[in-house]
Amino acid sequence: MEFLKPVFESGRIDFAGQRLASNVSSALVAGSAVVALLTGLATQQLSLCFYTYVCGILLTYAVVLLPWPPYNRNPVVWLSRKVPAASSDSVSQSLKTLVEDVSDDSDGGSSDIRRAIQQGLDRPESPVPTASLSSRTAPVVPDLFEQANVNFTDKKWVWVPHEKEGYIAGYVVKDDGADSVVVHLMTGRDISVNINDTDKVNPPKFEKADDMADLGYLNEASVVHNLKQRYASNMIYTYSGLFLVAVNPYYNLQIYGQDYVAAYRNKKRSEVSPHIFAIADAAFHDMLHSKENQSILITGESGAGKTENTKKVIQYLTAIAGDHKPASGAAVSGSSLEQQVLSANPILESFGNAQTIRNNNSSRFGKFIRIEFNFAGQIAGANIEWYLLEKPRVTNQSKQERNYHIFYQFMKGAEKSIKDKLLIDKGPEGYTFTQRCRQTIQGVDDRAEFETLVRAMATTGFRAEEQADLFRIIAAILHLGNVQFQATRNDEAVLREQVAAEKLCHVLGIQLSDFTRALLRPSIKAGKDWVTQSRTLQQVTFSVEALARSMYERMFGALVSRINSAMSRPDGKSTFIGVLDIAGFEILETNSFEQLCIN
Ligand code: ADP
Ligand code: MG
Repeated sequence: MEFLKPVFESGRIDFAGQRLASNVSSALVAGSAVVALLTGLATQQLSLCFYTYVCGILLTYAVVLLPWPPYNRNPVVWLSRKVPAASSDSVSQSLKTLVEDVSDDSDGGSSDIRRAIQQGLDRPESPVPTASLSSRTAPVVPDLFEQANVNFTDKKWVWVPHEKEGYIAGYVVKDDGADSVVVHLMTGRDISVNINDTDKVNPPKFEKADDMADLGYLNEASVVHNLKQRYASNMIYTYSGLFLVAVNPYYNLQIYGQDYVAAYRNKKRSEVSPHIFAIADAAFHDMLHSKENQSILITGESGAGKTENTKKVIQYLTAIAGDHKPASGAAVSGSSLEQQVLSANPILESFGNAQTIRNNNSSRFGKFIRIEFNFAGQIAGANIEWYLLEKPRVTNQSKQERNYHIFYQFMKGAEKSIKDKLLIDKGPEGYTFTQRCRQTIQGVDDRAEFETLVRAMATTGFRAEEQADLFRIIAAILHLGNVQFQATRNDEAVLREQVAAEKLCHVLGIQLSDFTRALLRPSIKAGKDWVTQSRTLQQVTFSVEALARSMYERMFGALVSRINSAMSRPDGKSTFIGVLDIAGFEILETNSFEQLCIN
């Protein structure tokens, strides 16, 4: 099933393909450059050197990139571009479009794809787990052997690799003892394959196994099959030994409510189905009993569901720690601490998340959240460390993405009196840093999100002045983007007009003359002396971008420190559970240096 295959394989095959294509094309381009240089040296003709290089580039494009555009062949990239993640309605709509798209596809595998998508659309709510709930009690898709209507033990079953479907199961119908055997595939076709290219199929008792470490034959085909079968039955979580594998449902399954919290509380791993709550409960249990810190590492590609699962861990820990009463009956320190920990999230998301091609609410920074507990198992504080905020997004975004949510939320949601004070009189279309990309996210109301942000800030204890200071920086960055410069005949940069710069200086409370001097004619130290140096238009443009980015980053740092100081309690800490929600790796058409560092 090509549509689901890369989801289950974490894109391994596709990324390997991309790497190969990129290595071959780099080698060809480098080769062309060398040949062009030698031609230039031999003939002493610059034009011949240039033409040789261009021919090399065209050859690379024709040989490698044209017949092998890996992005077009990666359905996950394609799907996540089409499926807005935020609302299940819009997901359903996009999936319906996808069904229609696929219906037009003349490709033979499309009926399976259609069925898989339809299952997604019609997916019923998951049952509440009970202590005895086994993953096999709620099958939505039939088991492999039920589909084939064949008895497993009579045949020799194998997985045969397939270009589109990943793997197809079948049984050997002709085996002369040589490497080449004839396999009857479940699709009804007989094919001749080399037995060494196939993998063994597990017996029916392993269908939809909770833990893939239990599989008798642990091969790639069986792992993919197991995850696929479980996913189609609403079981998005599966163990793989110590690890928990989660497959993003892009659908709000009812598996995170209070009933689920209660069902996973104090349960052994074998008593309940695999779930992120089980991991959180095990960490909590181990922390209390061994009195040692615990950490949960959440990793995966962008849009895989890392941040959503991080939130679920925090939701679970705050829910269970809240009802953990101290044995002595001592007073609970900081009654709203749980609320503060939970409300840190909307604040971080407004300032640190943005819409990307893959994810409408993508975290553009990595974070390590530590929840500290006292010996009685109550939350005694929390702390957030952040890494690698994607600064270039503040000034440049690709057309299908957005700047950080806060810019749009502020312009749409803030009261007019606040915006008047900060001289913000236009919407996102009126400011350079927000107008060259998307301005709305389908199914997301920026105004409502702003209200959530302000409520969260109030819960965390931000004073009105502190909030106003944050919005002041946001407004200043917007004005800064609108300041325009031009070059004089001496190639010196000067202000084109003063209005935007005056607004910026008013908002920041600085003198216009100081601002323009620092930007256009800065003083630099040459030896022992200070000299004034004029700047070119390009230098000033770079300075403006750098200023906007670093103002945003410093504001973000200050914001996290402020949240930390609200959640910090000097006394009563003993151990912590840390959750690392690391930045997701992305392979974009143009990968910046920062993206390279994040990856
Ligand atoms: P990542 O942090 O890995 O980039 P997110 O956690 O932000 O990805 O998930 C991307 C989107 O996928 C979310 O906005 C949400 O719509 C959807 N999603 C992820 N996990 C789940 C889940 N368990 N249930 C429902 N939707 C999910
Ligand atoms: Mg994330």
